[in-house]
Amino acid sequence: MPIYEYRCEGCGGVNSVYLRSYTSADPTECKLCGADSLYRIISRVAYIRSEMDKLEQLDPKYHKMVDEAIGRAPANSDPDYHMDRMVPFSQAKEKGEPYFKE
Ligand SMILES: [Zn+2]
Repeated sequence: MPIYEYRCEGCGGVNSVYLRSYTSADPTECKLCGADSLYRIISRVAYIRSEMDKLEQLDPKYHKMVDEAIGRAPANSDPDYHMDRMVPFSQAKEKGEPYFKE
């Protein structure tokens, strides 16, 4: 989230303002004295990253790591490998042994 600083011509005080986006309207009223005479003194002081921004930044690398890990794993370690081979019990060619024996 960008922070902008505005100086008041009335009292000389600095107002630090968090703007939601670059297109947000500039504040005009000084929080310190109420004068309607603010002007921007620094275009962008700091950019505070939200946690979501950090996660979004990590995502491409993280997904690549996961893809590589899956690529290295044996085919039958992929859950989809087994899911694709499951059929309803009534359609099974071989009934096999019940998994749970009494
Ligand atoms: Zn002021």
